[in-house]
Amino acid sequence: MLRSIQFLGSCSGFSLHRLKLHHSPSLISISTSSRTPLLTNSRTLLCFRQFRASSIRSQSNPDVTSSSATFRPTRTGDVQGTARKLNFCQVCGGPTKHEIPDGEERERAICTLCGKIAYENPKMVVGCLIEHDNSILLCKRKIQPSYGLWTLPAGYMEIGESATEGAIRETWEEAGAKVKIISPFAQLDIPLIGQTYIIFLAKLMTPHFSPGPESSECRLFALDDIPFESLSFSSMLVTLNLYMEDIKVGKPKFHYGIINKRPGTSPSAIHAYTLDYHLRT
Ligand SMILES: [Zn+2]
Repeated sequence: MLRSIQFLGSCSGFSLHRLKLHHSPSLISISTSSRTPLLTNSRTLLCFRQFRASSIRSQSNPDVTSSSATFRPTRTGDVQGTARKLNFCQVCGGPTKHEIPDGEERERAICTLCGKIAYENPKMVVGCLIEHDNSILLCKRKIQPSYGLWTLPAGYMEIGESATEGAIRETWEEAGAKVKIISPFAQLDIPLIGQTYIIFLAKLMTPHFSPGPESSECRLFALDDIPFESLSFSSMLVTLNLYMEDIKVGKPKFHYGIINKRPGTSPSAIHAYTLDYHLRT
């Protein structure tokens, strides 16, 4: 379900990432301080580039809101992101205080009754980019946020399922389509709102699909007709842009990147981002 995608927020530090690519034993180490990818295996060609979105259009509203929590910048200024302010303990319901625990660097919500420290971590969003007869399957959202805009079928991964299982489930729920995963296509981190997207390339197992409860319409779009002006989220814009770039020069690759949303911008300002640390196989 994609009901609250890009609305929940928590901190996501990014000091050192080690990525193991699905189709290659190559291991990549990246440090934000050097911004230099270190290749430990030469069998995979990795291109490193950093680019800015062609347009940054809005600097209006906060990008993180929630019906049950408020948000504020982290006290440590070196990390981009926001932390939810939990006012009550999720274990005993007691009131919390917000302090940096001994030996840590981030402010946490600490229960004043039972002492439980609330650690919040990024959410994983999984979905499918479904190729069918040189077209892509998109869903028009029937729920907020981004009501009426187009998205790839995607949503939060559930406890107990794998990323592929989650992507297949979400596709079934939102598009009524049974799909087979072909390969991973993109991992996109959005530190500001504490989300990581994993998008898989997939194909229809049967040529049937129909909108689920969260979609008003599902449609196959020829590549030249993809509604880039009516996409729901920055993550979808990035994913489809990368896909189109790949198709123009050959076949899809695997991409990693960080979508740095411009602080203070609305979720609807889907162009207000930079794609940093972009790696591709
Ligand atoms: Zn407690």
